[in-house]
Amino acid sequence: MIGVVAATASGRTAAEALRAAWPDEVRLLTGQKAADALREAWRTCDAVVSFLAVGATVRVLAPLLGHKSTDPAVVCVDESMAFAVAVLGGHHGANLLARRLTGVLGCTPVVTTASDQSNVTPLDSWGAELGFTVHNPDLLAHVGAAVLSGEPVRLDGAEGWPLPPLPPNVSPQAPAGGHRVLVTDQAEHSCMCHQGWFDGALVYRPKSLVVGVGSARGVAAGEVAALVDAALASGELAAESVRCLATADLKADEEGILQVARERGWPVVTHPAAALAAVDVPNPSEVVRAEVGTPSVAEAAALLSAGGGALVVPKHKSANATAAVARLRPRGRLSIVGLGPGARDLLTPRAVTALQRSSVVVGLDQYVSQVRDLLRPGTRVLASGLGQEEERARTAVEEATAGHAVALIGSGDAGVYAMASPALEFAGPGIDVEGVPGITAAVAASGLLGAPLGHDHAYISLSDLHTPWEVIERRVTAAAEGDFTVCFYNPRSRARAWQLGRALGILAGHRPPSTPVGFVRNAARTDESVTLTTLAEFDPAAVDMFTVVVVGSSRSRTVAGRFVTPRGYRWA
Ligand code: SAH
Repeated sequence: MIGVVAATASGRTAAEALRAAWPDEVRLLTGQKAADALREAWRTCDAVVSFLAVGATVRVLAPLLGHKSTDPAVVCVDESMAFAVAVLGGHHGANLLARRLTGVLGCTPVVTTASDQSNVTPLDSWGAELGFTVHNPDLLAHVGAAVLSGEPVRLDGAEGWPLPPLPPNVSPQAPAGGHRVLVTDQAEHSCMCHQGWFDGALVYRPKSLVVGVGSARGVAAGEVAALVDAALASGELAAESVRCLATADLKADEEGILQVARERGWPVVTHPAAALAAVDVPNPSEVVRAEVGTPSVAEAAALLSAGGGALVVPKHKSANATAAVARLRPRGRLSIVGLGPGARDLLTPRAVTALQRSSVVVGLDQYVSQVRDLLRPGTRVLASGLGQEEERARTAVEEATAGHAVALIGSGDAGVYAMASPALEFAGPGIDVEGVPGITAAVAASGLLGAPLGHDHAYISLSDLHTPWEVIERRVTAAAEGDFTVCFYNPRSRARAWQLGRALGILAGHRPPSTPVGFVRNAARTDESVTLTTLAEFDPAAVDMFTVVVVGSSRSRTVAGRFVTPRGYRWA
């Protein structure tokens, strides 16, 4: 929830604009003194937009400041809507909010946190999306300064986690004994500690452990808690790294177990007995099988919830409970990211985020250069030339399978005549896949031509590289008979000159010569050109591979110089 506070007429107008733009998020605080409104917003909201001066805002909020990880983010916007200043909680939402405000108010974001200036992944949110927590945040500023100033910082334990990139001075090869970032679920008092493993390191706790628990009916919470603690201690494991507590469906209402989970803030995951029985465990029990239908609850549930991980603490027993701990095998992530047709403001904020949270970016060299300035320092770029689609797809999937956070990029939408399908044909179940949609060429062209896609339409690629011409022709004929508006991708190249003329000939057999034909070359790029003509007048020689061609249905018309396909409410 974003609390919005304004004191002047222009502030209130802008506040209303924000509410209209983000109705589910914005809460206007009006009808009281601005200072009171600000205090209430601070108390009740996750973020605050203040249309008051920075000074006034800071004076009101100063006595309320707590810690940056729990305080709301605060952005101040000046009276003329020129600037949105991230005042408090830059890395906890204010920088992002300042940038989002740009889209609604047109103001320029002003961001002063150091790592945002140099586009380096901020250490305080590194891994946060994977559930990482910082064990010793008092070291953040010190190690963060070393990261930003290019000093060697040794990175240990991060392998296999799909983390955002850190700059090249942060690496497993940096010398030991200096600055250090450590990802570990080992407890600080573990034997590694005695070897100086933790000394001076900024320690991140990954959510890598699953505690499996079984019990007799009516077990006391105290007994479960003591047993879980003993199991973690025997493996020298940190409770901060526990991601969930796993048990059998039968125990979903076992109050002793639920209470421990509640107290520790751990989610509870339960599994059917049959699923548990199928897991191979080191310490099965026939007594347990007779009672609950599986020879193991604690070990099996831990392993099952760890999704192919390994048991790190075998079954511990007390009078009425059992506990075991498994370590998760992290999964790499493949983001398939559409960059839009070209212009930066048609690249979605989600695509920017996906690029910046990826440590490996795979794509055609020209698309990589389109977004290179956005990539975080330390991003490994694997760019290749035209015609190496299959190799790019394979590379991206292999990198993700190796545990990295990978972005496979493509122009427009990466799923439209592009990389998503070849990549997902190779990808196995062992990685997470995220698709980030982009504005495809037909949609970008549509906006420039008018409203050609107002009724049913079809996309057809005229490239016979992947499809025999007979198949393409059959589809063009079907679209003609079905009276679809047709968007032609890959319409014409030097080696493929006659196909577009043939396709338009087929369409002309089913719609009038006055049917509008629009074509856009390099939509949303610097040399964009837009042409609107008719089936009778259209000259295929005027288009090339940088063009998308839109042919109207029999109902499409030109209205005031714009291409319009009626929605069809008044069907004649
Ligand atoms: N994934 C892309 C399409 C790749 S196929 C997308 O979703 O847009 C390549 C074809 O797309 C080109 O031959 C051309 O027909 C069309 N195209 C891609 N970008 C374009 C642009 N900016 N302007 C016009 N046509 C474009």
